[in-house]
Amino acid sequence: MTVEIICVGTELLLGNIINTNAAYLAEQCAGLGLSCYYQSVVGDNRSRLMETVKTAIGRSDIILMSGGLGPTQDDLTKETVAEVLSIPLVADEHSRQRIAHYFEKRGMHITDNNWKQAQVPEGCLVLDNENGTAPGMIVEVGGHHIVMMPGPPGELRPMFENSVRPYLQEFTPGVIFSQTVKICGVSESLVETKIEDLIAGQENPTIAPYARLGEVHLRVTAKAADEKEAKKLIKPIVRELKARFGGDVYSTDADTTLEKSVVDLLLAANLTVATAESCTGGMLASRLINVAGISESYKSGYVTYSNKAKRRLLGVKKTTLTKYGAVSEKVAGEMARGAALFTKADVTVAITGIAGPDGGTKEKPVGLVYIACQVCGKLMIKEYLFSGGRAKIRESATACALTQLRRCLLEYCGSRTFGKEKN
Ligand code: ATP
Ligand code: MG
Repeated sequence: MTVEIICVGTELLLGNIINTNAAYLAEQCAGLGLSCYYQSVVGDNRSRLMETVKTAIGRSDIILMSGGLGPTQDDLTKETVAEVLSIPLVADEHSRQRIAHYFEKRGMHITDNNWKQAQVPEGCLVLDNENGTAPGMIVEVGGHHIVMMPGPPGELRPMFENSVRPYLQEFTPGVIFSQTVKICGVSESLVETKIEDLIAGQENPTIAPYARLGEVHLRVTAKAADEKEAKKLIKPIVRELKARFGGDVYSTDADTTLEKSVVDLLLAANLTVATAESCTGGMLASRLINVAGISESYKSGYVTYSNKAKRRLLGVKKTTLTKYGAVSEKVAGEMARGAALFTKADVTVAITGIAGPDGGTKEKPVGLVYIACQVCGKLMIKEYLFSGGRAKIRESATACALTQLRRCLLEYCGSRTFGKEKN
């Protein structure tokens, strides 16, 4: 079975929004072992959409469509698909009730055009939308399967997970199962070098590296008759990867982020934390606070951008600032110590650096960042040089702060092995 993706929306054509749905759907198909040979983007235009759908039907078995299912005039995906296939649109009572309930629950008034969303091509499979009003639809005709999903990623992704993936699974040979080994603090090139022999000549399972900022994810995927068999194939590879990367593997769990792994360590060791940030302006605090349950540990965060703030709020010495400059090992250390002194947190992390584009010198170039972590009195300060623009430097610094903090915590806990995780 071959797949084709069609994303509908003039905003996409104009470049106003990034086509993340296409990337998401393509990745999901690859994970399912379905070959996707074409992707297209078409505006909210009836005749061009007709042409695109006709072409897709002529060359692909499964067509995944996103967008244009809303209540407004320019939403015309299902109308057009129905027209191409000569199928009438009929009212779907189940969807009518869901739409009425959706508005009632929110105390909102239903405008007439909302009922348009309860119209579906006759005989189609209706997919419930848990996060919006437009249902999804699957039309099966002449051996083709046309799947229509709403455009907003917050609606499309849950719908894919809940309804479309199980539907598509029927068309995949056996099952595809993957597990991701998440590594932090090791460059992509070093990761790839370390697993060259495993990647060479691999067939089943496969290992695919994905570089993230400050992290590398290795997705191990196996194809087998059933999930149990696939897991059995994956297990030794995951074990081997863990052995090769040791404590740099922060998780093999799909839902665990780097910040979550750090927060888990803080909570397990019963440690409180505070942050003091200059160039990252609160990004580290924000990533930590992303994790539910952090309230047990997080005390406060300082954004001390000016020298004055570093002195006043964190007690950084004036002489240290003049002698070494705000971006220096010494200042990072005094920021971390000051934060510990004022908040009484067990663990503090301080970041100071030059995010650019201006402010760099020969001695202190743009991208130079110092990160200090203090865990129960023990201070570790590291110097980094990041590349890229202002945003990338700030994000890299934040990711490295999490990695450095994680290392310090593991050291404090007396272990760099990764034992607690369920497989
Ligand atoms: P709505 O009921 O919100 O109108 P819809 O199914 O009609 O939903 P569109 O009108 O095409 O979808 O898009 C609505 C919004 O969803 C867009 O403004 C955009 O924010 C997001 N969106 C649409 N298509 C994509 C896409 N391919 N990738 C990422 N985001 C998208
Ligand atoms: Mg719309």
